[in-house]
Amino acid sequence: RVLLEVKDLKAVIAESGQEILRGVNLTIYEGEVHAIMGKNGSGKSTLAKVLVGHPDYEVTGGSVIFKGENLLEMEPEERSHAGLFMSFQTPVEIPGVSNFDFLNMAYNAQRKKLGLPELPPLEFYSYVSPKAAAINMDLRFLDRNVNEGFSGGEKKRNEILQLAVLEADLAILDEIDSGLDVDALQDVAKAVNGLLTPNNSVLMITHYQRLLEYIKPSYVHIMYRLPWQTKQHSMQMQTI
Ligand code: ADP
Ligand code: MG
Ligand code: MG
Repeated sequence: RVLLEVKDLKAVIAESGQEILRGVNLTIYEGEVHAIMGKNGSGKSTLAKVLVGHPDYEVTGGSVIFKGENLLEMEPEERSHAGLFMSFQTPVEIPGVSNFDFLNMAYNAQRKKLGLPELPPLEFYSYVSPKAAAINMDLRFLDRNVNEGFSGGEKKRNEILQLAVLEADLAILDEIDSGLDVDALQDVAKAVNGLLTPNNSVLMITHYQRLLEYIKPSYVHIMYRLPWQTKQHSMQMQTI
């Protein structure tokens, strides 16, 4: 089954009107892992942010169908509730909010949308702790404030825990390998691989080949700037 179908997607920076994405096409089926590679500044993060509905960008053309629905008509929160997840290149710290409470809130918001009763903390603990264990995360991290003082690797792993809790259908992972040493990278990759099922998919963005050794993609796309337009960014994708 097709999970995501992006057709001729065009997007500009909302503030300046500068065009960044110029007709991106991408089809992802359930159970597939896709990688997008390409030079710094080629528009990879922009594509990811446009897909999750980031307000800095405005879609000016094309279509995005996610699980049979028009993704572009959905609010960012609705996209998340529909099963789209994005890990950010720089995960945010939330002082004063424990990781546990944050995850519980996010999970309950999703359940509410699905018409399910909220999980009280005790039950949520039973839900989240095996997920944390599965990705090799120490349970103490649940009591700490969201990402506060976490190392690079711990932040990335925390993103994967959020993904595991929300059981997203499509996870967009933007440079989860950035700033990680080989050990941390292997840990994070193992966590991601452990979450893969025949029903969910991953879109990973990276400019390092190294990540692809640990998370095996079904397809690799290269994003690039069209050579005859040197001033403006113009993204096209080539699939290998
Ligand atoms: P990548 O993730 O491939 O490194 P980005 O998508 O982050 O590339 O950026 C693509 C281009 O668009 C870059 O030149 C970047 O400076 C520009 N860009 C992206 N977002 C914004 C923004 N909000 N404001 C101004 N320029 C932006
Ligand atoms: Mg970049
Ligand atoms: Mg980027």
